[in-house]
This record gives sequence, structure tokens and C-alpha cells, in this order.
Amino acid sequence: MSDTIIEVSGLHKAFGKLQVLKGIDMSVRRGEVVCIIGPSGSGKSTLLRCVNLLEEPNSGTVLVNGFEMTDPDVDIDKARRMIGMVFQGFNLFGHLSVLDNLTIAQRKVLKRDAAEATAIARENLRKVGLEEKASSMPSQLSGGQQQRAAIARALSMQPAVMLFDEPTSALDPELVGDVLGVMRQLADEGMTMLVVTHEMQFAREVADKVLFMDGGVVVEEGPPAQVIGDPRHERTQTFLHRVL
Ligand code: ADP
Ligand code: MG
Repeated sequence: MSDTIIEVSGLHKAFGKLQVLKGIDMSVRRGEVVCIIGPSGSGKSTLLRCVNLLEEPNSGTVLVNGFEMTDPDVDIDKARRMIGMVFQGFNLFGHLSVLDNLTIAQRKVLKRDAAEATAIARENLRKVGLEEKASSMPSQLSGGQQQRAAIARALSMQPAVMLFDEPTSALDPELVGDVLGVMRQLADEGMTMLVVTHEMQFAREVADKVLFMDGGVVVEEGPPAQVIGDPRHERTQTFLHRVL
């Protein structure tokens, strides 16, 4: 099996006349944590959304775990099942308990029976430190707990890769650490992760590779010690001066 789990080649995406992605080449290897940093509007979310085809690229290819997402004949629902995604906002279903949030897609999409789905859900709630919250409603949880539940829900589908789009940006500062802690633990367990983040400390400590994006291109990529610690490009330096 290939060591490369995500491979993006020559990816272009425009919204009307606005060119947002201008030829992105990037790859993620199995078990790797890749962080994407860069200013607002540089195309980070659009890139992530093209990886699971929430946005359709204008040209270029996206391969995930051997599936060509951009092939018109691909079974996109099947392909998307390999990909877990966690967004900035908390996307739990408000009318369902935490446990039901974690079991519904397992049952409807993966056709697991209730006992198996519940066992997998409870195991993932334990992993994110929320086993006591199984019967709570999302509104009874803090933002950080909701985000950890959203991570547990994605994990319950047993994806091959997890995508995170600024998962801590909407959280009160004191709740950020718990969510980053869960992500760090996932990384330690060998989960393949592609993470858009402004948390430079997290990127420095956890990422195997950092990509700096600006204006729809990858300006610079490499190990965090280089891209964050000793950036070569002026645009990367300017960005880091502003955020660090
Ligand atoms: P980032 O995540 O780096 O902040 P985005 O990928 O969200 O950047 O956005 C890049 C650019 O694309 C921005 O100018 C944004 O306004 C534009 N954009 C994103 N999504 C859409 C959309 N659905 N329709 C039109 N423009 C969009
Ligand atoms: Mg974004």
C-alpha cells in the first residue's frame, strides 16, 4: 500500500472570477501530521474542502487513500467515509444527545447495529474525556466539550485521515488546551491529520510538516523548525511576525 495517503496535484479553484487556489501540490503520508498556516483568505479552508470534494476543483487531482476524489466516476459517498472532518464551528446535531450524535452516521451510513455503534461511540467519548456526557444534549456542553464531541463523532466513523479546519478558533482561550490535547493524543496514536491552525505552538510541537499558504499558493513547506522557526520567505516571516 502506498505510503502517501493524500496527494493533491495542480489544484486550481476559482469562485467566479476570484482565483482562490492557483496550483496547489501537496501530500500527506500515512501517520503524518501536516499543519497549514497562513493569513485569512489565503485559501486554506478551500483547499481542505477540495480534499473531500465539498468544493469541486476547476482542475487538478486529489487522491485520498487510493481514491481519486476528482474522478467523475468515483463513488463520492464511499470515498468521503475515509475522511473525518472537524470544522471551526461546532456542528453537532442540537436535537440529539451526545451519544446519538456519535451513533447516527455509524448506523445510517455504515449500517452498524445499535450495540456496535454504541460501543464504538463510548470508546471514542472516553478517548476525548467525555464519557460522562453521553446522555447530555450539546447545548449543555461547553464549546470545548462540543468540539471534543465533534472529534469523537468523526473518529467513530473510523476514517483513514482526519481534516481539521481551525478547530480551536471559536473557543474561549481557556478551552483551547483541552481540544489541542485531544489532537495531540490522536497524533501520538498515529492518526493521519491535515490541520489548518493558527496555533503555532501546536504546529511546532506536533506537525511533521508545515505548509505556509498565501494568495492561493504554497509559499513554503518543510519541518516546523524550519518553516516556523527559521522561515526562508519574506511572506512567511511577515505573517509569523504578526501572529507570534
Ligand atoms: P482561508 O481559510 O485561508 O481564510 P478561504 O479558503 O476560506 O481562506 O477563502 C479564500 C478566498 O475564497 C476568500 O477570498 C474567500 O472570500 C473566497 N471564498 C471562499 N469560499 C467561497 C465561496 N463559496 N464563494 C465565493 N468566494 C469564496
Ligand atoms: Mg478558513
